Amino acid sequence: MSETFPGVIVIGAGPVGLFTAFALGMARMKALLVDALPAPGGQCAALYPEKPIYDIPAQPMILGAELIERLVSQAEPFDPAYHMNQRAQQLLACEGGWRLETEGGLVLTAPAVIIASGAGAFGPKRPPLEGLEQFEGISVHYMVKRAADLAGKRIAIAGGGDSAVDWAILLAKTAAKVWLIHRRPQFRAAGSSIDTLMALVAEGKIELVAPGQLAELKGESGRLSEVVIDDLAGGRKSLDADTLLCFFGLLGDPGAVASWGLEMQNGRIKTDPATMATSLPGVFAVGDIATYPGKLKLILTGFAEAALAARSAYGHVFPGQSLHEVHSTSLGLPGKTGP
Ligand SMILES: Cc1cc2nc3c(=O)[nH]c(=O)nc-3n(C[C@H](O)[C@H](O)[C@H](O)COP(=O)(O)OP(=O)(O)OC[C@H]3O[C@@H](n4cnc5c(N)ncnc54)[C@H](O)[C@@H]3O)c2cc1C
Repeated sequence: MSETFPGVIVIGAGPVGLFTAFALGMARMKALLVDALPAPGGQCAALYPEKPIYDIPAQPMILGAELIERLVSQAEPFDPAYHMNQRAQQLLACEGGWRLETEGGLVLTAPAVIIASGAGAFGPKRPPLEGLEQFEGISVHYMVKRAADLAGKRIAIAGGGDSAVDWAILLAKTAAKVWLIHRRPQFRAAGSSIDTLMALVAEGKIELVAPGQLAELKGESGRLSEVVIDDLAGGRKSLDADTLLCFFGLLGDPGAVASWGLEMQNGRIKTDPATMATSLPGVFAVGDIATYPGKLKLILTGFAEAALAARSAYGHVFPGQSLHEVHSTSLGLPGKTGP
């Protein structure tokens, strides 16, 4: 990008925050994205990366993770700044606009803010195991970005819901070994998934460790060599796993957003659907966190809201100037003049 665009703070790098980065770029503004999670994608990446989505226009079917990859690459020409692992904590009015502070100590200021915080700053429920931190991100994970990365691994999966069961079924195709660990012999997953699971157990492709509970992790320098299981009857069993996936659910935290003085309705931010303006001047809301009469909590709705919010933010970033109607076909992208 030859020109430096002025920044607009975007809280949340879910699908709608990512498209907001693109929409801002088309209007000569740069997104300063802030997200509590380590990677962009919000619910699509964290909750259903390998599930097919059927209602994205012009995409008859697209996986959650694939949609996020495409949104990231669509915004790329505008060079958005990604501040990941940063949970937005305080939003305060300051000279020239707004000042955002995160729990991690990051401070950003901008004339306008677009809140795309969706279902909230969610993080995984972590098992209470000693020394867990040294393995996290190396051999203990709470989400799977690409099943292919785990091919040939010896994988212990802990949890009893849809995610644990679905991933056990999927990974059994390519892993060297899959154990499924759950406190109870019964699973809380879709009936058809449980049937598939039991068939794979019968074929010896998945080993059930139920009842069982994670008791201890062994290994060095973050590399797991053993997962010790408590059988809840006083006994212990050791699994020679090199990977542990924990699916105990996510802790949603609408948290800080609700304390910023915004007018709220049932935990969501009241917005004007014509502009996506909130009750605070220069602060806009889009996606699942935004509400107005007739709101549809869908990704495609959020995309249209992002375009409206970028347009509205323009007046705060370039006071006194108006944004002319421009089509992307005539505007082009930075460094690209033709198709
Ligand atoms: C299983 C499942 C299937 C679905 N299927 C479909 C479907 O087929 N079609 C469809 O249209 N929709 C579907 N949805 C809904 C869709 O995923 C949501 O509408 C969409 O994710 C909303 O996008 P968003 O960007 O507004 O919010 P989110 O995806 O929730 O992203 C919000 C982001 O903001 C971050 N954040 C929140 N608070 C803070 C904070 N204080 N500080 C920093 N970061 C913060 C979060 O970490 C997150 O990354 C599905 C949802 C689920 C759970």
